[in-house]
Amino acid sequence: MGRAIDLSGAAVTAPNRPPSVDTLARSLRSSGLPHPICVDIAREAIEAGDVENASARADTFRRTLLTDVVNATGVLLHTNLGRAPLGHHQPAQAQTVEFDLSTGERGSRQTAVGQLFARLTGAEDAMIVNNNAAAVLLVLAALAEGRDVPVSRGESVEIGGSFRVPEVMEQSGCRLVDVGTTNRTRLSDYERAIARPGIDVAMVMKVHPSNYRVDGFIEETSIAELSTLNVPLMADIGSGLLDAKVPWLKGAPPTWLADEPAAVQAISDGAGIITFSGDKLLGGPQSGIIAGRADLVEQCKRHPLARALRPGGLVLRSLQDTALTYLDKRAAVDIAFWKMVDRSLDELDAAAERIRFAVIHDHDIDPALLMIEPSEALPGAGSAPGITMASRALVVDGDHLAALRSAPTPVIARTRDGRTSLDLRAIDPGHETVVVAALGAALAVS
Ligand SMILES: *Cc1c(COP(=O)(O)O)cnc(C)c1O
Repeated sequence: MGRAIDLSGAAVTAPNRPPSVDTLARSLRSSGLPHPICVDIAREAIEAGDVENASARADTFRRTLLTDVVNATGVLLHTNLGRAPLGHHQPAQAQTVEFDLSTGERGSRQTAVGQLFARLTGAEDAMIVNNNAAAVLLVLAALAEGRDVPVSRGESVEIGGSFRVPEVMEQSGCRLVDVGTTNRTRLSDYERAIARPGIDVAMVMKVHPSNYRVDGFIEETSIAELSTLNVPLMADIGSGLLDAKVPWLKGAPPTWLADEPAAVQAISDGAGIITFSGDKLLGGPQSGIIAGRADLVEQCKRHPLARALRPGGLVLRSLQDTALTYLDKRAAVDIAFWKMVDRSLDELDAAAERIRFAVIHDHDIDPALLMIEPSEALPGAGSAPGITMASRALVVDGDHLAALRSAPTPVIARTRDGRTSLDLRAIDPGHETVVVAALGAALAVS
């Protein structure tokens, strides 16, 4: 066992003779980082004449790794924090990813989870790819390569960094045909486009604009109307709400979901094929779901891109669990996102009181520093833009974001008007002690 090295002593008493790389690297063992990384950090610190900060450098490196955090932003599906929080554990064991147990022969990777999503959405068939961007790309490439696809000018949108409808269409090899205007597009606009001489329409695409809304003098054409056209309709519904009736929650569907397109209704309204994300309102792992008519889904499965976009067993198993949870009607208790949505203001108040009490008493903080205030949480991930859910927040004066991030389990909060706000809705009750520790430490140093 190596002896602990007094780094500050070494630096102060022998400024011209830094410790050896190996000695310094060993002293960084408590960072938990693998030895070769500690060696790199030790060497860099010595070269920079910064031996006394070697352990801070190790800590900085450790913080570049994927790290569990508490999401106190009030954005429930925070894209930078991995969208839907998800616990999943899988033993190191072979599983039937592409194996048919009844025949003992090779099976399809798309069977197990695909059939569950067909059942959940009411579609004839379904398949899974790595994310919704991949789903859109695959559907367009498989069903419309080299052909024309009319899209409303109001739906030719950019969704998050680098998913831009015209660019995805270009990548897939189909031709975008602009239809209607930014604010109003009618069925007759599509009909005229399809009837244009020389045009070769493979299908019509409808895109949920997700992260923005147009208000005022607007008109869009519904999935039901577009399904009356004589070409298939592809609908990218994006957010992954399974059913507009939200049967897994008690009572009426939350009002903030009113404008979100849902998979069950898109299929029953006649969409030929739909795509959506697995890690937005569905609350599962990052994945993209393609569901629809069996012949259209089959064409997607056969396309060469399907192989490049296929998910691994880890994602498939996790998404299978998500699907089974919905089928078992356990989504409100077993899917983290819906648990957050389902928490009442009384529960959030109680959580805020518990945390406030513990910070004040365990960390000896002046009660006047820590307020409980009304707050507004957002679904996030581009869902229901401009719409908020009533929530509660712990609020302190000043900007404490950096101190909260430096906690052993970092807490990610927000500032508004020079105050720091920790929204309670996305904080699991099991993580309250982490919040107490981080907030107590942040307020103690301020
Ligand atoms: C989010 C979204 C996408 C991109 O989905 P990812 O799962 O992030 O790849 C595409 N289309 C719509 C309408 C979306 O809302």
